[in-house]
Amino acid sequence: MTEENISIEDVKASNGEAHLDVPPHANGLSEHRRSEPESTAQKVKRFVLANLLVILTVSAVIVGVLIGLGVRNAGLSRTQIIYFGFPGELLIRLLKMIIIPLVVCSLVSGAASIDPKALGKLGGWAMLFFLVTTLIASAIGVIMAFIIHPGSSDGKMSQLNAQDDSSVPEAKDVIDSFLDLIRNIFPSNLVAAAFQSYATGYKFVKNDTNSSVLLEKVPVGTDVDGMNILGLIVFAMAFGVALRKLGEEGVILMKFFNSFNEATMVLVSWIMWYAPLGIMFLVAAKIVEMEDVSLLFTSLGKYIACCVIGHAIHGLLVLPLIYFIITRKNPYTFLLGLVTALATAFGTSSSSATLPLMMKCVEENNGVSKHISRFILPIGATVNMDGAACFQCVAAVFIAQLNGIPLNFVQVITILVTATASSVGAAGIPAGGVLTLAIILESVGLPTNDLSLILAVDWLVDRTCTVINVEGDAYGAGLLQYLVDRHPNKNEEEELDKIRVEEDDATPKPEIRPLIEKQGNFEPEEAAGPKPCEKESVM
Ligand code: ASP
Repeated sequence: MTEENISIEDVKASNGEAHLDVPPHANGLSEHRRSEPESTAQKVKRFVLANLLVILTVSAVIVGVLIGLGVRNAGLSRTQIIYFGFPGELLIRLLKMIIIPLVVCSLVSGAASIDPKALGKLGGWAMLFFLVTTLIASAIGVIMAFIIHPGSSDGKMSQLNAQDDSSVPEAKDVIDSFLDLIRNIFPSNLVAAAFQSYATGYKFVKNDTNSSVLLEKVPVGTDVDGMNILGLIVFAMAFGVALRKLGEEGVILMKFFNSFNEATMVLVSWIMWYAPLGIMFLVAAKIVEMEDVSLLFTSLGKYIACCVIGHAIHGLLVLPLIYFIITRKNPYTFLLGLVTALATAFGTSSSSATLPLMMKCVEENNGVSKHISRFILPIGATVNMDGAACFQCVAAVFIAQLNGIPLNFVQVITILVTATASSVGAAGIPAGGVLTLAIILESVGLPTNDLSLILAVDWLVDRTCTVINVEGDAYGAGLLQYLVDRHPNKNEEEELDKIRVEEDDATPKPEIRPLIEKQGNFEPEEAAGPKPCEKESVM
């Protein structure tokens, strides 16, 4: 690699080190600075180097499938498969390790650096986008299930159904599911929230009435394994807002969270280079471990097709179209910038685990500012699940068809609404959506024992589902960036414009904005008085 052939920005970006001050280069096609014409070999070399990570990640998925198919014939034992999947397991561990510091620090510093009114407006737009797109995804799921009719049984389903009933989640009452969601928003113990969530269980107690003894099903609270990310998000945001209220007194803590956040992102850029290897082994190990694939495809092929086509329509047409209509920018260029994160979502089946890489991708390839990505992506990864809503709707209609239960209009609307709501409650972990699917089935009185069928193919459907879940978050961040970047003329955008970070604003600010200081240059007397907004925050 000679210096004159490769611009420093390209190398930085391919190393995950690009900064927002560097204009985002569109997938390695950034303008070359040399005046002399390049040879084709040099062009190819430059393109490959600038897109090395993307090329490696996509190749990893393909090579993983090939290795998996090859090793499958070797007849590995269970233990050998576990050892074989070790590099993939390591990637998941690395990504999980980074989630808590990343989510907490980015939200505290994000909320602290944005004016509360602008924060409210920004959050409001994001929620509206998330709500509308999730409803559309649910509608696509229902329509696909009515068109393809996956529940027309040919007898093979019962064979499958008999295979595995043990892992079917216990059905919860709809009211308890929603109450649990609210309880988890307010964790009683922050430390425990890092690894435990609240979940209602049931016990039966005798209830003596005058004439008879009845058994009453009483909800009891239990703590189950699994990070309560919703609780952490709400706390971190509230804490950030409180920190901002402290003004000068809160500056040190804000700087602490900012530095923590930056250091975490450096770790993420290192992990990114391990991702291709990890993804390759995750995919390969899954293929080796699969049981009778042909039976799954012949019996549940239509269901899988419904989900995958629904996800493709939403991810390749609907979301890009919405982005294009609002921004008039090429949505597929935006999508290309996300390839590494999307491949990671496919490999890990987890929105939470994909979050660190998604932040890197939208910031470095799509020019979304750190303020926006680090505020909106953790929220999106937790509450915005378009893919989950889509497959849950397909699954609900599929189970109804399987049991010969006709669905009326009100039930269809109930499925749409509950799928949208329950996708919010779904955790961004593998099979997170299947767990909340029970809520939808309960709400329209469908049997929950057929969930084992859904689980049988969830390892596959969950992958496309997670890709769509994270893609929706990224487009949300892109749209917010567009809203913030729009020229500050209209009244309704005034608040959003307050969080513009790359514009020079000479208007004195009435509030202290310590995070809009140059890094390491904080001077208390300056911060306490009116001060022009400087270019880039330390966030
Ligand atoms: N695995 C999905 C995710 O992490 C959640 C789901 O199962 O729907 O986004």
